[in-house]
Amino acid sequence: MPWTYENPPAVAENWTEEEQRRCVDAANAVIEETGDDEQAIFACIRAAGKEGGKMKNKKTFRGPLEWKADADTTGQFTAAFATLGVVDHDGDVTVKGAFEEGQEAVIEPWNHNYGAPPVGKGVIRVDGDKALVDGKFFLETPAGLEHYRVVKALGDMQEWSYTYSIEEQSFGKFEEREVRFLRKLDVWGIAPVQRGAGIDTFTVGLKGAKAALASHSTATSDVGWDGPANGARVRSGENEAYYRRIFAWMDPEGDPTVKATYRFIHHEVSGDGAPGAANVRACTSAIGVLNGGRGGTTIPDADRQGVWNHLARHLRDAEVEPPELKAAGLSARDGEGEPDGETGDGKPSGLRPSTVRVRAEVDLVELGS
Ligand SMILES: [Zn+2]
Repeated sequence: MPWTYENPPAVAENWTEEEQRRCVDAANAVIEETGDDEQAIFACIRAAGKEGGKMKNKKTFRGPLEWKADADTTGQFTAAFATLGVVDHDGDVTVKGAFEEGQEAVIEPWNHNYGAPPVGKGVIRVDGDKALVDGKFFLETPAGLEHYRVVKALGDMQEWSYTYSIEEQSFGKFEEREVRFLRKLDVWGIAPVQRGAGIDTFTVGLKGAKAALASHSTATSDVGWDGPANGARVRSGENEAYYRRIFAWMDPEGDPTVKATYRFIHHEVSGDGAPGAANVRACTSAIGVLNGGRGGTTIPDADRQGVWNHLARHLRDAEVEPPELKAAGLSARDGEGEPDGETGDGKPSGLRPSTVRVRAEVDLVELGS
């Protein structure tokens, strides 16, 4: 459905007018081109620069569902949609307290179909190590009734999936493994899904958005910056949590244990390879590269805002006003001028489709002008 400034996608409800306008324009353009609601929502999120902190994530869970005795007339059910305190298949541990008890959540149509209205609603609660939703299907609507009947008939053959953004996270060890702890989540919606369905398409859709590494607050430093020297001290064969303390972008298709997968180094690295303070000069020069300096960057346009957010947070922590991010498209140039610290031990930057498209557009503009 085409969205309007007065009626933006639900994700944009609490955004500023400017963000909503960018979201609606981008989402409608994608709908017109592809008819794909899910991709449209991603485009909306990216266009509004929300992919850094407010990125949409999804997890699927197979758990028990109980219908209330009078479900045929009320549509009421209770479903477990997450288990707390265990490592899930994404390597995440959702800690107790991550879900806000009493938070209302929309029950989304089958497989998170954003093109259709919600089919129910529910309230989140936690019982032991399970996150539950006490929900009801809107039996008074044809879609709500249909979902109720299908979910009831499918029984074990379906799973639940919820979409959320991460409000608070940390990295650390859990049962001998390096994991990400999800400490506070904002649940956007819960949907019945076919087992295994949609997971791959979602992963693909998220790739661009995942590439900018989440902003964090660390110590800062304004001493001189020698990028290549710091880059050379970065250890090889470490895990993602290690590289996240040094870089601001990762190639989602790269091997997370290889340092060449990462770009935009901006943390000082000690002689033994330990990550340290964010360097103010490195952050400033990296934003220059995002804006086309030193030959510009080859990362996809959609990732630039997230990288900028990361670097800008460090600068603000150091009480330095970050240089603005120039409009997308102005910075895309052929060139390998990543910030100082490209150590030359990496593979050439893998061009993903979005990168290629941006470049093609730039080429057209340049040819046509
Ligand atoms: Zn950083």
